Amino acid sequence: MIPVELMCRRCGKEVETIEHVLLYCSFASAAWFGSRYSFLVPQSNNLKFHQWLQSLSFIPLVSKAESRLVFSYAAFMCWRLRMARNNLYFENIDCLPSDVITRVERSWIEFHGALSRPLGKPVMADSFAVSHSTVITTWSLPLTGFIKLNGDAAASDILGTQGLSFILRYSVGSPLRAVS
Ligand SMILES: [Zn+2]
Repeated sequence: MIPVELMCRRCGKEVETIEHVLLYCSFASAAWFGSRYSFLVPQSNNLKFHQWLQSLSFIPLVSKAESRLVFSYAAFMCWRLRMARNNLYFENIDCLPSDVITRVERSWIEFHGALSRPLGKPVMADSFAVSHSTVITTWSLPLTGFIKLNGDAAASDILGTQGLSFILRYSVGSPLRAVS
């Protein structure tokens, strides 16, 4: 019989389910919260992944274009979180939630840049920028030379649990550290 490791190798606190890897692991929830949309993963961890994804549709968005941006961003988050998990398990390569965010940003901007340019004109990924007119702006850059701290906390009387998340960002917007 082959021994199977059931517990999450990253936090060692929970059985590794899809929901744990993509949402409830402290590593994942820090990455979601530290992302440009500051997604808050509920601490009650009784939602299935598809239910949580459906809950995103209740975010007040002004257009279908914005909705597509949010859902595509969530898809890239899932992909990069899954890759981070596989790199840890199969390559023994660890990373930080901020590394996941950086990779998501790069892939997501490249993806939307590719959608908006004519076919047959390859351009370097870093030269793309998603139009700010179609991106929900919920956060502003700190002044040059400053670091911005954003945080949030939640508590459940029913479960008797509390959660705290924060992220530090440089003045260019890149994450310095995210903790949940
Ligand atoms: Zn975990």
